[in-house]
Amino acid sequence: MSGKTILVWFRNDLRIHDNEVFLEAVEKASLIVPVFCFDPRYYVETPFKTQKTGSFRAQFILESVADLKVSLQKMGGDLLIMQGKPEEILPEICKKYHVDEVYHHREVAHEETEISSLVEDALWKLQINLKHFIGHTLFHKEDLPFPIKDIPDVFTTFRKKVEREGIIRPSFATPEKIEIPQDLEESELPNLEDLGICAPVYDKRSVLRFKGGETEGLNRLRYYLWETDLISSYKKTRNGLIGGDYSSKFSAWMSAGCLSPREIYWEVKKYEKERTANDSTYWLIFELLWRDYFRFMFKKHGTSYFRESGFKGIKQDDAPNQEELFNQWKNAETGVPFVDANMKELNLTGFMSNRGRQNVASFLVKDLKVNWTWGAAYFEEKLIDYNPASNWGNWAYIAGLGNDPMENRHFNIEKQAKDYDPNGEFVNLWLPELT
Ligand SMILES: Cc1cc2nc3c(=O)[nH]c(=O)nc-3n(C[C@H](O)[C@H](O)[C@H](O)COP(=O)(O)OP(=O)(O)OC[C@H]3O[C@@H](n4cnc5c(N)ncnc54)[C@H](O)[C@@H]3O)c2cc1C
Repeated sequence: MSGKTILVWFRNDLRIHDNEVFLEAVEKASLIVPVFCFDPRYYVETPFKTQKTGSFRAQFILESVADLKVSLQKMGGDLLIMQGKPEEILPEICKKYHVDEVYHHREVAHEETEISSLVEDALWKLQINLKHFIGHTLFHKEDLPFPIKDIPDVFTTFRKKVEREGIIRPSFATPEKIEIPQDLEESELPNLEDLGICAPVYDKRSVLRFKGGETEGLNRLRYYLWETDLISSYKKTRNGLIGGDYSSKFSAWMSAGCLSPREIYWEVKKYEKERTANDSTYWLIFELLWRDYFRFMFKKHGTSYFRESGFKGIKQDDAPNQEELFNQWKNAETGVPFVDANMKELNLTGFMSNRGRQNVASFLVKDLKVNWTWGAAYFEEKLIDYNPASNWGNWAYIAGLGNDPMENRHFNIEKQAKDYDPNGEFVNLWLPELT
């Protein structure tokens, strides 16, 4: 050890397993200062008149931070939980605890990278380096068979090449013990009121009570693989709509960084060796590649993802009364049962199945002809598993402005409802008044 003090700035990497930032800090420093900031910019109204973070996700993040604090305490450390802008808070903490260097995981979306730049500038004035790590994807950027600027825009081309030539690194070890400054101040978790967010009301029809934190994320991983073998039939069940078991539900934990995609990958590999390897076990990894792909697309195309014309620069035709139509859509009042049932699920639980998301998004854009960015912003508020690349990437894809090679993909909602909810159970669950 070097006698160094390193500040670990936790953001969307709320875990101690497979966390390179945390491990390297522990290995390189004598003392570490783990910090999480509740940044007020994430708890405001957006230009779309939506909330940046809705109740379900805010509660999930609070639970995740609380869980991380407990894990760090068990290793002899603690987590400093602050409220405020990192570029103002982190330099103060650095001065107070004589920090030599700050470590964090690099993000890809504009607002997040902008905050990193502000922090970097503020630390630079103190001659402190902000060291960036890459750690949110299955494939490390440097192990891809192409540089970011040459990543194929079409998913299948990307997938085939990474499956053939890409390398997935092993997970990083979890440190057993950490040393923090003896005088590290006590800090408390804020509550939802402090963040200006209403408490969520949990609906018993929710697919799961998503509880935030690494502990719960790892429990879910164990449940889905080893305790139930659900993974071995994932390909058959993944288009389901009701209950906790039709799909992995890993997304919320992955978005907050409570669960590492690499950890999932290696656990699936172990499962394949010890129990069974089939098209379902492969398909879960296949889906993780979609997640990686959208993240790398963000890196490649930057803010153009958030533009109404997407990165292809095509302007859609909007309906003249799109505000009225948008309100009907978000309030589950379109009169189309399959769309309304899904929107009701989203509004009351913070979750919607992948099948539901594809349908309501297609309906908003292609049938109602409403600006797709309004729908994406609404999802950003509501989804418990929101992350910028997966959300905006999927929306742009469905709007036909992202990377879908099939021009003008348009879901036939009536057919989709017949195929995926043939007995109307899902619609009955959320719209019992229709029966
Ligand atoms: C319009 C729209 C918006 C979306 N917004 C988000 C979002 O904000 N956050 C998010 O995590 N996912 C988003 N998705 C992708 C997908 O719907 C969810 O990841 C999935 O439904 C989560 O449930 P699960 O964990 O049970 O998924 P599973 O079916 O079990 O899949 C396993 C994992 O693969 C990844 N994955 C699966 N499908 C996709 C996909 N299409 N794109 C990217 N990753 C995928 C997720 O990390 C998921 O947890 C969106 C999809 C659409 C169509």
